[in-house]
Parts: sequence; C-alpha cells; structure tokens
Amino acid sequence: MLDEPCQADLSERDPATGPPRPPRREFKARGSFTERCPGCQLPVLNCLCPYQASAESEARVWLITHPLEHFKPTNTGRLIRDVLPATEVFTWYRTTPDARLVALLDDPRFTPFVIFPDDQPDYAERVVGIEAVGEAKAGGRIPVFILLDGTWRQARRIFRKSPYLDRLPVLPLATTRLTRYQLRKPASRAHLCTAEVAAELLRQSGDVEAAQVLDDYFDVFNVSYAASRRYEKIETTTAPMQRLLAYRAE
Ligand SMILES: [Zn+2]
Repeated sequence: MLDEPCQADLSERDPATGPPRPPRREFKARGSFTERCPGCQLPVLNCLCPYQASAESEARVWLITHPLEHFKPTNTGRLIRDVLPATEVFTWYRTTPDARLVALLDDPRFTPFVIFPDDQPDYAERVVGIEAVGEAKAGGRIPVFILLDGTWRQARRIFRKSPYLDRLPVLPLATTRLTRYQLRKPASRAHLCTAEVAAELLRQSGDVEAAQVLDDYFDVFNVSYAASRRYEKIETTTAPMQRLLAYRAE
C-alpha cells in the first residue's frame, strides 16, 4: 500500500523533538514508499496490531470528529474505538447534524456529557464535576463522554456551532497530567490528545482497567509511530507493550 502523507501531517511534525525536516521533495519521495499495515494504518516498520486489546467499561465514548481529522494517521480518536468497541464515531458537519447522534442524545439509556474546558462564563451553569458520572451510573444510566475530536480550534468551533449540544452538561477534565503525544506539536503540554483525555476520564470515573489498557495502547501507538518517522525499528519491548501482551494472553 502506498502512502501519500497529507500536508497537515507534514506541517505537524514537532520541530522541537522531531528529526530535522528534510527538504520537502525528498521527504515526499521517501514518505510515498512508506508501507502501511492494512490492520492499524501505521508504517509496517513498527506495527501496532500485536498490541491491540479490547476492554470493558461502564462509561462509553462518542466522538464527534472534525472532517479534516478523519483521515489523519496521527489521529488518536480511533485508538479509543480499538480498545472500547462500543465507541461511536460521528463526523461533524456544521450545517447538518448527524441524525443518529441526535437520536442517541434523546435515548433514555444514556447520560451524555460534553467534554470541554470550563474557561468561558457563558455556559457556567451547565458545568458539572466528575461526580456527575457516578450519579448517572447510580441512576441506572450509561454515562457517555462526548469528545470533540480535532484541533483545539476545531473543537471550539464544534462546541459553539452545534445547537444539539447546547442542552448537555459540560464536563471539564480536571487533571495535572501533561501530554506525552509526540506526533504533533501542542500549543501547551497541558493540552492532552483525544485518547489521553478518554483514558483520564475513564480512570477518574472508575473504569480503571479500561483506562490502563487505553493508556498503554496510546503509548505504544505514540512511541511506534514516532520511531517509524525516524525510520527506526523498535527493538526493546517497553513496559506498556509488556502489559498489553500479558493482558491479551489472559
Ligand atoms: Zn498493524
């Protein structure tokens, strides 16, 4: 399978931690022949498939993914669906809400929360804490974390331009955790990527095993992809790799 790296992927290489960026023509020539695994879409050099593991969780995740994010190989939202197969993925279009998503928001089995920072005053009355997730479970409902999957700018746009989200409680992720994501340059290390946000929410709300599996799977993805970009084969099994292999063998 031939791979054409998209512009976004090229421009998001981290100049601080990445290798010196070669002249574009040379990179494209080499990148075009990077063979990708059809199973995990990662370069075959460090394939993710041996570490794929699914877990059970009480809470669910629904992703509302910006259309520009869908086909980026560096997207981490898809890792959540690998680990939690009940994860729903919707594509966001500003003018046409996804009919299935709108129907699910009215489904009484679920209590959905929009995961978003509480840094603006105009929706302060909708902000809830993580204890609201436990209350939903106690009430016999399935809590759902709605993650806006895109850049921070895109996520803000989705939040502001989706009237069907306006009536939902807003759950900000409270954490001191810093991002480990190496594949894009974050504006701040406090900006976690989508898979890290999901793992942290699962952990804080009691789905500890699912959180650990997702965290480890994200770690292997991150390390493997970064190594492949340097044309390096990973020779040593990292601790997250070992944990996932043991978990799969259970
Ligand atoms: Zn693979």
